Amino acid sequence: MGFATDAIHAGQEPDPATGAITVPVYQTSTYVQESLGRHKGFEYARTQNPTRLALEKNIAVLEKGFAGFAFSSGMASITTVMMLLKSGDHCIVTENVYGGTYRVFTRVFANLGLEFTFADTSGLENIRKAMKPNTRMVFIETPTNPLLSMTDLRLTANFCNDMNLLLVVDNTFMSPYFQKPLSLGADIVLHSSTKYLNGHSDGVGGVVVVANQDMAQKMAFLQNSAGAILAPLEAWLVLRGIKTLALRMEKHSDNAMKIAEYLVRVKKVKRVFYPGLPDYPQHDLARKQCSGFGGMISIDLGTPDKAREMVESVRIFALAESLGGVESLIGHPATMTHGSIPKESRQRMGLTDSIVRLSVGIEDVEDLIGDLSYALDRI
Ligand SMILES: *Cc1c(COP(=O)(O)O)cnc(C)c1O
Repeated sequence: MGFATDAIHAGQEPDPATGAITVPVYQTSTYVQESLGRHKGFEYARTQNPTRLALEKNIAVLEKGFAGFAFSSGMASITTVMMLLKSGDHCIVTENVYGGTYRVFTRVFANLGLEFTFADTSGLENIRKAMKPNTRMVFIETPTNPLLSMTDLRLTANFCNDMNLLLVVDNTFMSPYFQKPLSLGADIVLHSSTKYLNGHSDGVGGVVVVANQDMAQKMAFLQNSAGAILAPLEAWLVLRGIKTLALRMEKHSDNAMKIAEYLVRVKKVKRVFYPGLPDYPQHDLARKQCSGFGGMISIDLGTPDKAREMVESVRIFALAESLGGVESLIGHPATMTHGSIPKESRQRMGLTDSIVRLSVGIEDVEDLIGDLSYALDRI
């Protein structure tokens, strides 16, 4: 089946009890057993819930994986995946990773005996250089937030396969509509479903999809043991969001392309980061690895003051953290999403205080360009 068909139908048979076409919200904590040990496959709602299961089946199909798991947040999915490691293990991480991921790795898991090396994973030689005898996992975010730097997933997957390392990919920015890491050889793909999968800025959640049965058994065990599961109503909202994922991603990407093309012509904008621009350094990799360029753009305005004036002058773009919803958002990564990363680390990877990040929504693009033009005139 095609992506849009799967998005609407996978894992979502009519409700067996009533025929309801929409998967009901099974707001229950337990299930009555017919007799001792005889039940319908559901015993206790931390372990299994039919609404959550529908989402888990759906996302597994969309990511072309073996099984899916839904968690209470993107961070809960990342935390649970890291529990595959044990004290003393080493993990190589994309240096320009999401701020919350950096925080939990350096300030929580490092205390529990996991070791991390942050590297520019866009060059395989940097991953090679970061290798240690105890390296067990490579954790990639591509494209990164907010600099949109990309890692070649096929190349990295081949390397990880040769070295017997687990390859985990945070696919939040592209969504499975534009990028399918498991098809390129990754072992685990995860998302903050708070972003494009939900798409309507009305819920927090996360999903993990694994490539094979062995990994599925381990994740099911960890999900049930650690218990950071997605609640049924939240799962229902993500299922509802995913039904329009294909349509939304097309529009996010079309709007972002037009806005990027507008921004490169504005003198006050020193630099535009968008993988869809032909002169973007990794444009060829973006074309090879993704079927679209996504809805995220970053711009460098030259000074922190101009960045502040810009985010405070827009009227349609809302000044807010998060991304991937139908409405356009604007943010200042250095003080907002990436505030938890030390200034020296931010400078080293080029995340300066003059960078503004746009999450381009699905409004009329003329209105969005008009809004940006209004704000840019004022700085
Ligand atoms: C938002 C985000 C996360 C964290 O997800 P939450 O749902 O906020 O916990 C992880 N990775 C990326 C790339 C994100 O954008």
